[in-house]
Amino acid sequence: MKNIAIVGAGASGLVCAITCARAGLKVDVFEKHTKPARKILASGNGRCNLLNKDTNICHFHSQNPSFVLPSISVFSFSKCLDFFCDIGIEVVEGEKGRLYPRSLCSSSVAELLFYECKRLGVGFEFGCEVLHVQSANEKFALHAEDKKLIFDAILIATGGMSMPSLGGSQSGYEFAKKLGHSIIETAPSLVQLESSDKTIKEASGVKIDANIEIYVENSLHVSSRGDVLFADYGVSGSAVLDVSRVASVALQERKNVKAKIDIMPSFSKEELRVLLQNRLKKTNKKSVSMWLDGLINKKLTSLVLKSSSLPKNIFSSDELTAKDMTKLAFGMKNIEIEITGTKGFKSAEVTAGGVDTKEVDAKTMMSKKVQNLYFSGEVLDVDGDCGGYNLYWAWASGFVAGHSMAREKA
Ligand SMILES: Cc1cc2nc3c(=O)[nH]c(=O)nc-3n(C[C@H](O)[C@H](O)[C@H](O)COP(=O)(O)OP(=O)(O)OC[C@H]3O[C@@H](n4cnc5c(N)ncnc54)[C@H](O)[C@@H]3O)c2cc1C
Repeated sequence: MKNIAIVGAGASGLVCAITCARAGLKVDVFEKHTKPARKILASGNGRCNLLNKDTNICHFHSQNPSFVLPSISVFSFSKCLDFFCDIGIEVVEGEKGRLYPRSLCSSSVAELLFYECKRLGVGFEFGCEVLHVQSANEKFALHAEDKKLIFDAILIATGGMSMPSLGGSQSGYEFAKKLGHSIIETAPSLVQLESSDKTIKEASGVKIDANIEIYVENSLHVSSRGDVLFADYGVSGSAVLDVSRVASVALQERKNVKAKIDIMPSFSKEELRVLLQNRLKKTNKKSVSMWLDGLINKKLTSLVLKSSSLPKNIFSSDELTAKDMTKLAFGMKNIEIEITGTKGFKSAEVTAGGVDTKEVDAKTMMSKKVQNLYFSGEVLDVDGDCGGYNLYWAWASGFVAGHSMAREKA
């Protein structure tokens, strides 16, 4: 019987282990931490957003975007639901088509995946960091601490660099490089954005529903509507995470990145101008910031005044003119901040970039360079949008790798 080593007991490694073991292969999983599935446990704020109803390919990113197609066709939405139902997980739909375990506990997913592995006889070595992987004569030598073990096939499912505290590491890229693979430059994604703009500090702690647009070299690249949270360092929140990949990659390429935030996304500029004009009837000698209070959070006033380019010498709202209302309406819908960095891999949910997918067979996940070497999950140059796409990629690619290892078992 063919014996398989899986490096990494994360989302992808566990699904691959189950798939191989169900096909009768002997499987050993090596995990540097003392427990499996740490990122699954942390996912979806402890609820695990494991899939999305909308599985359109546009939600996945790679230098080679069509690479994901065979995996998500084979491990389709319904196949994925069946897989989880089979191990005991019912799902429930949340906002934006996001699916969660009905228990709303990520631990259900982690524990039931691990239980299924154990039930099928998968071997686990925890607290065992794989240090080198060598290939010779279509076999692999796996070096872990003081051990050297030989396998017929190996899956690198070591994930990306994000959140080292939850297992993020570069080791998969190192193994891949030594085995002849190229790496697409990595960048943090689904990550908070930093700004050197000092005015933003005054807004720290404010969380609003807003629209955020990212401009790279002054051209609009991406936008998202949802929560925007202002912080000392910059901006965070679900809408920011959605657009962060574009900003992060552009910063990596040393391009100029700006964010434009519309803090009144439910109003058109004209509706807002009329609203402000009506408020001019009740200024009662209030300061401009007090006059705006009640319409916007007070902590946002400086940012709004700055982006409205109102004369700095206006202190009383009585001095405001109809023309100023047009400027204020513009300012509220166009708060512009320079993006100077991201919070990096230590805070990012995923890693963009990774093992170049042009050197991996999309239908089997096997290396085109080394026979019986497989990759799956985040270690590959594939990352997804917020909304269950990263776990879906991990499950689907792990399943396809396992399935093709089983097909090759003869
Ligand atoms: C806080 C957080 C929340 C998230 N929420 C969601 C969500 O709700 N929905 C979603 O779709 N995605 C979410 N993600 C992303 C998702 O968790 C990952 O994309 C997914 O877990 C990747 O799966 P993987 O198997 O490729 O890697 P991982 O799950 O990271 O597993 C890799 C494993 O390999 C181990 N390892 C690494 N190097 C070695 C080595 N040399 N030797 C032995 N073991 C090694 C690691 O310890 C780790 O256990 C979230 C990520 C984070 C950090």
